[in-house]
Amino acid sequence: MSLTKQLHQNQPGSSNAKTIPLTVAYGDGIGPEIMEATIRVLEALRVPLELTDIQIGKEAYLNGHQSGIPDDAWDILRDSRLLLKAPITTPQGGGYKSLNVTLRKSLGLFANVRPCRAFTPYVKSHFPNMDLTIIRENEEDLYAGIEHQQTPEVVQCLKLITRPGCERIIRYAFEYARAKGRSRVTCMTKDNIMKHTDGLFHQVFNEVAASYPDIQAEHYIIDIGSAVLATNPDRFEVVVAPNLYGDIISDITAQVAGSVGLGGSANIGMDFAMFEAIHGSAPDIAGQNIANPSGLLHAAAMMLAHTGLTTDSERLQNALLRTLEDGIHTPDIYNDAYTVRKVGTKEFTDAVIERLDQRPESLTPVTLRKDAPKITISIPERPRPEKKLVGTDLFIDWHNGGDRNPDLIGKALEEAAGQVGWRLKMITNRGVKVYPQGLPETFCTDHWRCRFVSESSTMGPDRKGMITSEKVTMKAILHLQQEISDLGFDIIKTENLYEMDGQRAYSLGQGE
Ligand code: NAD
Repeated sequence: MSLTKQLHQNQPGSSNAKTIPLTVAYGDGIGPEIMEATIRVLEALRVPLELTDIQIGKEAYLNGHQSGIPDDAWDILRDSRLLLKAPITTPQGGGYKSLNVTLRKSLGLFANVRPCRAFTPYVKSHFPNMDLTIIRENEEDLYAGIEHQQTPEVVQCLKLITRPGCERIIRYAFEYARAKGRSRVTCMTKDNIMKHTDGLFHQVFNEVAASYPDIQAEHYIIDIGSAVLATNPDRFEVVVAPNLYGDIISDITAQVAGSVGLGGSANIGMDFAMFEAIHGSAPDIAGQNIANPSGLLHAAAMMLAHTGLTTDSERLQNALLRTLEDGIHTPDIYNDAYTVRKVGTKEFTDAVIERLDQRPESLTPVTLRKDAPKITISIPERPRPEKKLVGTDLFIDWHNGGDRNPDLIGKALEEAAGQVGWRLKMITNRGVKVYPQGLPETFCTDHWRCRFVSESSTMGPDRKGMITSEKVTMKAILHLQQEISDLGFDIIKTENLYEMDGQRAYSLGQGE
């Protein structure tokens, strides 16, 4: 079912005369209440939006759409390419996919943008001056969801980081900083440990930063970076991070700001954008007219700014600040010191509407740049590097009745490899070298990574890890696998070793 509703088109005071189609999802739990509140405010602002409603979420799940999104909803979304979404309840129990992950991936929403601002003293926070934005990569990393159990003892999740993915999110972060008049972008990774995956993110950050000389660029290792975010958040302006770290630090930051219940977020793609509150569907308070609509109102303000309706966005945000400041609070932010009137969702919304032409007096008003450039991202096509196969890592499930002596598997594989022109370079167990010359103290699981290079390989420390073998072919790898399999070893995975433009493109084992 879809409902089309025309909001006051071409009204005086609107900052844009063109009507903008917007898809609206009312969600579950408190979703319908806070969405109604938000639409009332948009109507009062007289913004030129044309709204179409879609039914996604719990009902759709229960009607057999495992992603929570029926086909007609996709069609409507494709037309508007702009979604304002109230929170959705994910039914508990097996089989249901996360609707948010489905939307992000299907619509290519690569950037998750979460501004975190303190509203002290009206909402408690230890950091009254914090005002930063976390920009999180939204599609890649461990969230690709590629997981396998490889041996009885070992499961694996693939961490995928791509160069185009890094370039898009990092360029977006710098463009965002420029558009918002911010002077610094901070990148957070763990590239001291993950030198290739996080290393790529950091490297691309450095490359992209070079084309934004007007913006200061800095990098933190994620562990100390998170600690500084929790203890000194007011030193940050824009923070960009890969998916998992971004997920964690955006929650830390919202919590530290004291505004989890008040925050909005944007999910931005090349062609689509989705806006929502940070919080969930709060089924415990649904239907009671006590939910705070501020999170979705902030999301709507981000949506207005995104579509160029900056004056409307500014008016909405300043009315919200003024309402907070005037002590008109929903129960979740009630406090003895600053609440003048404890109100329900509807009354809070009335108060915001009454203040659409007012600005806060003690909180800093929101001022958006009217001439801010529209953020556009283009990723230059890069020449493909020269790729050379130089060896292979075979992963083997080996338990040996409990006798996991690395010398036993090492000697057997060494001999088999020698038969077919390969050399066993080393074996690692959970990344630690155990053969040759492992330490007897190292605990070994049933998961062995066995690195093979060709007999003629001269890889060694003096060559800085470069392999000079000329003869590695896929056929030779298959031959090696056959030989090892014939000996009764259970090969559960193969990762080939490459050089890209003469550079080693794989990690060395610890102790190698
Ligand atoms: P939640 O955010 O819904 O609720 C946590 C607590 O905060 C509850 O006590 C709730 O009453 C309160 N709360 C949340 N929003 C509020 C508001 N606007 N005003 C006043 N109080 C508010 O988190 P949860 O309980 O873990 O999740 C409930 C459901 O929401 C789950 O099905 C979950 O999957 C879903 N969820 C959806 C989204 C989304 O759609 N983006 C995000 C998070 C959780």
